[in-house]
Amino acid sequence: SEKWDQSYDVVVVGSGAGGLTAALTAQAKGLSVLVVEKSDKYGGTSAVSGGGIWIPCNDQMEGLGCPDSYVEARQYLDILTEGEVDSERLDAYIHRAKEMVTFLRERFNVRFRSIPIYPDYFPHKPGGKPGFRTMEPENFYADQLGEEYANQRPPYPATLLMGRMAMNQVDAHALLCKDKGWVWLFLKVMWNYWTDFSWRRKSKIDRRMTLGQAMVGSLRKAMLDHDVPLWLNTGLTDLIEQGGRVAGVRVSRNGQSMNIEARHGVVLASGGFEANQAMREKYLPAPTDTRWSVAPGINHGDGINAGLKLGAATRFMHLTWGCPSAVLTGGGPATGMFVERAAPGCMMVNSQGQRFVNEAGPYTEVVYSIYEDHQKTGGSVPCWLICDARFRKKFPLGPIMPAQLQPDRAIPKEWENEVYYKADSLPELAAKIGVDADGLLAQTARLNAMAERGVDEEFHKGENVFDRYYGDPTHKPNPCLGKIEKGPFYALRVTPGELGTKGGLDADARARVVREDGSVIDGLYAVGNCSAAVMGKTYAGPGSTLGPAMAFAYLAVEDIAENA
Ligand code: FAD
Repeated sequence: SEKWDQSYDVVVVGSGAGGLTAALTAQAKGLSVLVVEKSDKYGGTSAVSGGGIWIPCNDQMEGLGCPDSYVEARQYLDILTEGEVDSERLDAYIHRAKEMVTFLRERFNVRFRSIPIYPDYFPHKPGGKPGFRTMEPENFYADQLGEEYANQRPPYPATLLMGRMAMNQVDAHALLCKDKGWVWLFLKVMWNYWTDFSWRRKSKIDRRMTLGQAMVGSLRKAMLDHDVPLWLNTGLTDLIEQGGRVAGVRVSRNGQSMNIEARHGVVLASGGFEANQAMREKYLPAPTDTRWSVAPGINHGDGINAGLKLGAATRFMHLTWGCPSAVLTGGGPATGMFVERAAPGCMMVNSQGQRFVNEAGPYTEVVYSIYEDHQKTGGSVPCWLICDARFRKKFPLGPIMPAQLQPDRAIPKEWENEVYYKADSLPELAAKIGVDADGLLAQTARLNAMAERGVDEEFHKGENVFDRYYGDPTHKPNPCLGKIEKGPFYALRVTPGELGTKGGLDADARARVVREDGSVIDGLYAVGNCSAAVMGKTYAGPGSTLGPAMAFAYLAVEDIAENA
């Protein structure tokens, strides 16, 4: 039998939103708990994310005038998950996710607010909603973390105004789409930042935390308030079984091996395998490359592999939370393309110069379409976002801000002919990127004619409220469909990246890891991207990865507490 170096009721592996929620739930249930985190920063992908959580029937919807029901949410998820997800797991999510949100607010002051205008990704499908189900973290202020601030994974510069000032989802929409009052908002954000002299002496980055920073920051703050320990530089290397159950973990802490007992349960919250090229090649559709990932490159599938060694079943290993991405020169995570695809005056084409997808569609769907088209034509990896000077002026283009804010001369030199390409005419641009010029010209002519009529007969761009979320409301007749006609012309190189992988250990409605025969591995739980997604192949709405990660963390620890 093992010699334990330390002993806790619960050990949580990984410090993303799922892991931290599990730790707080354990604290509230009176269980002792330790979080082990492999990297030198806590927060994982969750810390660099948008921080949105998709919570059907959340307790703010009714008051905001958009009541939701189990029946609608279930109908919507049934259609989207196509029978591939366990019914009890879907039920657990719909019935209990909202309770997790209330619990975090009431018990730990970790706060989320419903976003009325952020639509489900398939709002036109039965049970879909035009907004309200997605919640975002309320503002949080970095000074509340004290010294621990230095240990939080910092935000991606692209999610900050000028790499400094924080925006929440509502601000970002207002600024990008120039909603009513956006100038005033811009000035307010600037003013608050530049007049915060005492904080700027400490950090270039805003004291105000938003998005994933606010989510992870407020969860960590609650842990600090209740003395819940978190060890950095401590990676799971193995699960330890004893007497037919998982009894603890072996970790490497600053290079030293240690055995930590988990008297009542181990919660794996160690993310997916997006940073592991060998696993990508084994499981994901080809071609695939870690460099296309929008995630921070920290998750190598350790939790999944540890579970596999104990005979756990896996599901959905071929799927990702796909997101088209632009790879930057010099390494680091790729930039996710969330916004610009929906704006009028751009199109995505393959090497024949042909469109193959509704550019404004949900990012995961766009990536599925890239692979489908690549299978047929061999010409979609990479593919290209094409636009003209008018588009370039007003809208972002991957990592490049609108020319109004970032003119061509302010783009890093080394990005030209790597990240993006530019030419005075479309045939010249086609030659530079190796795309068929005649095909590109013919497609552009078709797009321009459709833009005139405002109807995308090819792929229906702009036909639903989600497409139009990042459209240009001042652009008529279709806020998502515009002409490409005024040079110079631009092409952004687009790869089928992802926010994270979504296949992993098969878990039941209580997040207990199961074997192929459906039996439970006692003492072992999996949440977040190391578990098989409750969403199956789909992405129901903004927050469909973090919402489930946190909800199943809450349910996992509830099960642990009931059996402790
Ligand atoms: P993570 O948050 O990545 O946490 C896993 C942690 O485990 C990491 O800290 C890692 O270092 C650690 N770890 C790995 N191996 C070990 C080991 N062996 N031992 C110990 N620790 C280990 N999703 C949404 O729902 N809403 C959004 O708004 C949203 N926006 C996004 C924006 C961007 C730019 C990106 C990249 C992603 C976004 N996502 C969003 C996706 C979401 O962030 C991830 O799916 C989610 O964070 C996964 O959570 P997790 O807890 O499984 O993994």
